[in-house]
Amino acid sequence: MENHFDVIVIGGGAAGLTAGIYLSRAKVNTLILNEGAVGGQMVLTHEIANYPGVESISGYQLARNMKAQAQKFGCTIKSNLTITNLELNGELKTVTVNNKETYSANAVILATGGKSRMLGVPGEEKFKGKGISYCATCDGDFFRDKEIIVVGGGNSALEEAVSLTKYASKVTIVHQFDHFQALEHYIEEARSNEKINFIMESRISEFLGGEKLEKVLIQNLSSNQIETMNVDGVFIFIGYVPNTEKIAGAVELNEWKEIIVDKNMAANIPGVFAAGDSTAKRYRQVTTAVADGTIAALSASEYINEFKKSGAMTEAV
Ligand SMILES: Cc1cc2nc3c(=O)[nH]c(=O)nc-3n(C[C@H](O)[C@H](O)[C@H](O)COP(=O)(O)OP(=O)(O)OC[C@H]3O[C@@H](n4cnc5c(N)ncnc54)[C@H](O)[C@@H]3O)c2cc1C
Repeated sequence: MENHFDVIVIGGGAAGLTAGIYLSRAKVNTLILNEGAVGGQMVLTHEIANYPGVESISGYQLARNMKAQAQKFGCTIKSNLTITNLELNGELKTVTVNNKETYSANAVILATGGKSRMLGVPGEEKFKGKGISYCATCDGDFFRDKEIIVVGGGNSALEEAVSLTKYASKVTIVHQFDHFQALEHYIEEARSNEKINFIMESRISEFLGGEKLEKVLIQNLSSNQIETMNVDGVFIFIGYVPNTEKIAGAVELNEWKEIIVDKNMAANIPGVFAAGDSTAKRYRQVTTAVADGTIAALSASEYINEFKKSGAMTEAV
């Protein structure tokens, strides 16, 4: 049956492609369905310098390599599509694409990733990756001895501001309120760090520059006064949005709309697994997505084998 697969992976980023590699290599008939261009957030990453064994690689190239490796093992990959219906309950799972084709499988891996919450002010889109970053672990090293701003007032913002002082000569935290919404421990650590300055009750209202970010406009929210500040980089930590809108209702999510999984990456429905940045977890990196994808693939593979052995496998309609 040409529209029936053993496993359908929804999402073709690092997690989904890794699952595709492991499953296809194990001769599990696998389809990856991806909404945008294959590669996910890797494609947005200029340079990845912390992928073990690879000193430096563009995110685009790493994504291409993963895609080619999955295809080499026989994985079918379809991209630039919209998932219009998802039925995950029951032994036969179905996924409808573009209100047209319906694919079925006995196991599904959800690997839809996510995105950092953006400030949504002028210039942000233009300078993303050209001075504006959403990941200290990924980009901190590019700002050695530079002056940077950290936007945010929660645990992540304060923790990452402290970690960025390992590289930057000066870190200014810009926060919209007169107090932080972080644990006391993180606040103390930031306040006692000599390299960190604070601009409270303020927000960045615009990013400015030429090819790269050069300055920002900072608006004081109580006086409305706007000042210009020269800066080499801005790190934004105001939250994370998992791509789970289309999954909501189909599988159990937590209060932050992240997919709840167990240690084998199994979701709350038999035969449904999840991997990568769309799941509930603390750290989000290519390596963690790849690890999740591996575990989800091995779990899905075992699930499929058990079913095939018991002869209970439901065939495609
Ligand atoms: C600018 C930037 C720089 C980074 N730098 C680094 C770095 O240097 N090192 C590092 O380790 N990590 C870095 N990261 C983090 C890393 O890229 C991610 O943690 C990792 O790629 C997540 O992989 P994923 O497969 O879980 O999700 P994603 O990469 O988000 O992939 C999810 C895929 O699913 C697709 N999708 C979404 N919704 C649907 C749907 N409903 N149906 C079908 N498909 C869907 C998306 O189009 C996407 O292709 C960076 C992230 C960013 C944004």
